[in-house]
Amino acid sequence: MNTVSSTPSAQHVLPPLPYAKDALDPVISAKTLEHHYGKHHQTYVDTLNKLVAGTPYEGKSLEETIAAAKKDGKTSIFNNAAQVWNHTFYWNSLAPKGGADVPAALAKQIDAAFGSLDACKAALLAAATGRFGSGWVWLVQDAGKLRIVDTGNAEQPDASCKPLLVVDVWEHAYYIDYQQRRADHVKAVLDQLLNWRFAADNLA
Ligand code: MN
Repeated sequence: MNTVSSTPSAQHVLPPLPYAKDALDPVISAKTLEHHYGKHHQTYVDTLNKLVAGTPYEGKSLEETIAAAKKDGKTSIFNNAAQVWNHTFYWNSLAPKGGADVPAALAKQIDAAFGSLDACKAALLAAATGRFGSGWVWLVQDAGKLRIVDTGNAEQPDASCKPLLVVDVWEHAYYIDYQQRRADHVKAVLDQLLNWRFAADNLA
């Protein structure tokens, strides 16, 4: 029986948060997650589903959609699809009681690229505060070496880079808890929430 063919269900879905909404408090409050995950991320998913319905993008995976929309110059589809992907990657880049316990294989690469974990965090903070307006700060593996990339709006690192983790520096990520104080927010994220195990799992 095929009873659903005339009413296609939403193709892209909001993945569950990998922790409870209050698990990142006080750096990221439950109220921020209710808005950031429950409203912003959900809206990117809903908008993407509306934009792709009845187009050649319908049925494509999220990654295929991002690549094709970028190539085709379909800005709205790219922006919403990339924001869906970026936010899911961001939630996984954070962990309750994170910030420490860097797996040895990753620590070795961090030392090789930056000199120390503190220097890596200082570089992430500098990129976060240096990014004018909305965007993302990424730790990536590029040709076998770690480096930091910052991107504007929904943009992602070049396809040649393997993202290891990301920090959201859009105002909606911190305004409820830190108002305009982006540097204070990002410093707290780096010290208390970064999921280095997730980053290590992403190493090529
Ligand atoms: Mn965001």
